[in-house]
Amino acid sequence: MVKDYFSQHKNLRLVVVEKLKHLKRGKSKNRGKAFRKTLSNWNYRELLNIIEMRCEENRVSFRSVNPYKTSQTCPTCTHVERENRSGEKFLCLRCGYEKHADLVGAQNILERFLSGQYGAAFKAD
Ligand SMILES: [Zn+2]
Repeated sequence: MVKDYFSQHKNLRLVVVEKLKHLKRGKSKNRGKAFRKTLSNWNYRELLNIIEMRCEENRVSFRSVNPYKTSQTCPTCTHVERENRSGEKFLCLRCGYEKHADLVGAQNILERFLSGQYGAAFKAD
């Protein structure tokens, strides 16, 4: 799936993902409830590893940013409020901007990268 994406997007130059809080290498020794709770995080990390590998193969820039409040921030007026997000729906309580919450999150993550310390140096063609 990831491979297909790269072969279909030959002009892809940059991938920005959410940085995970607990990025540890190696296997977890805890197999109890805590292990099951982190399983979705683990799968996400595996996915990130695959994406990063494909990025290297295809010479695509791979970056990650802190996703803190990215799904609660309005992309148009920058208003931050937890109630902006309700489940999968984003509705800005200040300006009324409306979109799928995951898309808003992704949009803010890219914006955060591009306006950040490293993003400013990144030149997109
Ligand atoms: Zn807004």
